[in-house]
Amino acid sequence: MLIEVKATLRLGDTLVPLSFMSDGTHLSNFAGDKKEWLVYMTIGNLSSKIRQMPSTHTVVMVALLPIPIKNHNIPQKRLDEQQQTNREVLNEVLQRVLQPLTFKPNPNAESGYYNILCADGNFRRCKPVLAAWQADCPEYSDLHHLEWHVCFWCECPKNELGDYVPSDKQHPQRDHNVYRMLRDANTKAADAEVSSRHVDQGFNVFPHIPCIVSNLPKPYLLHTMQIGMLDHLQKWIFHFMKTHKWLDKYNAIWLSVPAYHDLTRKNQSYEEVSQCNGKEMKEMSRYLLGVVTQSLRGGSPAQRPVFNRTIECTRVLLEFYMHARYKSHNDATLSYMEDALHRFHTFKDVFLLGRAGKKAKAKANALRTELVKKRKVDEETNAETWTPSKKRREMNAWRDYISHEIDVSKELDADFNCLKIHLMAHWVEQIRQYVALQQYSAERHEQAHKTNLKDSWNASNHNLNYLPQVITFQRCILCFEITELNLQALAQHRENSSDACKVLPSGADLAAPLGSQSYAKPEFMGPQNCRDGKHPDAMIKDFRAFLNTTQDAMHRVAIYSGTREFIKHNSRNKMYISDEQLHAMELCIYHGIKVQVEGLDGERISQMCRCTGRQSWRGGDRRNDWVWVKQRPGRCYGALNGCLLWQLQRLFKITLLNEDGAFVEYWLALALTTIPENSGNLDPVLKFVQVRKAPAAVALQVFSVGNIVGCAHVIPEIATSRKTGDGQNERWIVNSHIDLATWNDVYN
Ligand SMILES: [Zn+2]
Repeated sequence: MLIEVKATLRLGDTLVPLSFMSDGTHLSNFAGDKKEWLVYMTIGNLSSKIRQMPSTHTVVMVALLPIPIKNHNIPQKRLDEQQQTNREVLNEVLQRVLQPLTFKPNPNAESGYYNILCADGNFRRCKPVLAAWQADCPEYSDLHHLEWHVCFWCECPKNELGDYVPSDKQHPQRDHNVYRMLRDANTKAADAEVSSRHVDQGFNVFPHIPCIVSNLPKPYLLHTMQIGMLDHLQKWIFHFMKTHKWLDKYNAIWLSVPAYHDLTRKNQSYEEVSQCNGKEMKEMSRYLLGVVTQSLRGGSPAQRPVFNRTIECTRVLLEFYMHARYKSHNDATLSYMEDALHRFHTFKDVFLLGRAGKKAKAKANALRTELVKKRKVDEETNAETWTPSKKRREMNAWRDYISHEIDVSKELDADFNCLKIHLMAHWVEQIRQYVALQQYSAERHEQAHKTNLKDSWNASNHNLNYLPQVITFQRCILCFEITELNLQALAQHRENSSDACKVLPSGADLAAPLGSQSYAKPEFMGPQNCRDGKHPDAMIKDFRAFLNTTQDAMHRVAIYSGTREFIKHNSRNKMYISDEQLHAMELCIYHGIKVQVEGLDGERISQMCRCTGRQSWRGGDRRNDWVWVKQRPGRCYGALNGCLLWQLQRLFKITLLNEDGAFVEYWLALALTTIPENSGNLDPVLKFVQVRKAPAAVALQVFSVGNIVGCAHVIPEIATSRKTGDGQNERWIVNSHIDLATWNDVYN
């Protein structure tokens, strides 16, 4: 649609793609359950980075509608009528909101062109076009007058929603103009045709606007994946672990997942969390596969194939999600996505039991009651002939038979006909048409709810006529903030113009461009101040005190010999220092180090690696983060690209008096070292790199922090206890799913 409109533009005209978003939200949960339906608007001419910044006010509220309260105690027919009326009211209201886009009744617009005052003070001839509408699935159904739980892009039958659809065999696209004509025809045959396509009767505003209605919905990462598929996946895995009696191990490893620079260690297992929001789901997707892989180690030969299929199904769904989050795509990434989706459909049957709905469960329960009755009859008839051991055998056989029959019954009634599974089939084609999905991120308007509505609601008197108050308040706040932004922009403009008059320094004075080696210049965080004075680590001023306060004998030896070795190899003239000099050396302990790493798109990201030794961090567990340590040139380690994963134990700075009387400072770290298995290549079954603890002689090493190139993340093989720290675990898998950059670097 946009391309066609673009072709009709004259030189100097500006195309303004309008993107709308609508969402329902609760104002109050306890005082009368007030719910509102908000419509926001933004324009596609802005970069997605600017659009995502709340301070820029790029998303404006254009409509605020109260949602009628649902009546639960009325007959189904009346409920349906009410729903139909609500949809019609909604469409009537939207017709007023979108009227300027329908052009005909608007005398000011010359075939859809408007003279618009732009931010730079110039007027431009602009053509606004309705390009996108973001909403969650039930809202699309209401907006497009479709039945619930049907696809809004294509005419896929309800009972085929769970099937794999290859990109070249998609169902026919929805054509709302045809539906409109059929509705207008108003004959029985036309009505039947409309209902067979799962379309409801009634007025729909969208076919009256120049746009392709079925192109308006866009893939919605938050609703389809984060609180959709990932939530389903999490529940299926939970159900799977419970059925196979592996839940305890799964929970224990879940709780042992170490912290990462933006991820704290979990203190609740999945079953203890009542509900996860989108952000928590996103966080969980970063370590879920590692936890599932480690939990499902072992098992009997009969269980192994099922476990492998479970791991594979989890992997491909998470990889589909990770690829979908890329900021740019090419044919290769799109074919990975297609392949991942195909594999998900191949392996999804392992979770079929978890898909059993209420009906299937009720049927299975009825079957259980019936079978238990039969068992009792069998028991009573044979009560006299069975010996106690025979009775035990028979009862066990009955128990196995009943549980097998129930599983079979549930599986027969369960299916994957869920809209969100089907929606994923359209994503590749959508990305081909509209590039990356990041631009349609819903985070911005989820934030806007707070500033637009909740703050205004809190400022109102909560009376019946609160809506005008909310709108007035919101408008006033917006005016102030926009004025502030304008003033800032004006000040910035003046500054820039005065800058332009300055003479730039000569080439030699300019800072060197940031090279790939600039990470060797880290920033440090000191120990935090305690409430009762200084932190114990801040009181340590010299090397002797450091050794004396180190309780672990192995650590003490490693720090002493490691530091001595380091000085010997790194000082000029291979300086020898006596024990006396070493002990008196000035020392300072740090609790964190900030490293600059390169993100997926080449942008610089600061990562904070924490190392608090044996001290707790923010009143919780101690933090001994894992880091990537660059090894000598020439070392490769397969997929690890010349780096090894070590766990920080101590971070400290020593100050040494050089032979020529100058002070030299060294920033050092003590780390628990690991060595890669299979020369650092992927394990063929687990598809992760595995590392294990290094031999005792080199298990702890002192090295320069300049070699740290970023934070790393691992999942332990054996769950570790909170109280005793690392316990007996000696093997880890390198968690490549922790972020997109790591995934790209380590595994591709
Ligand atoms: Zn579809």
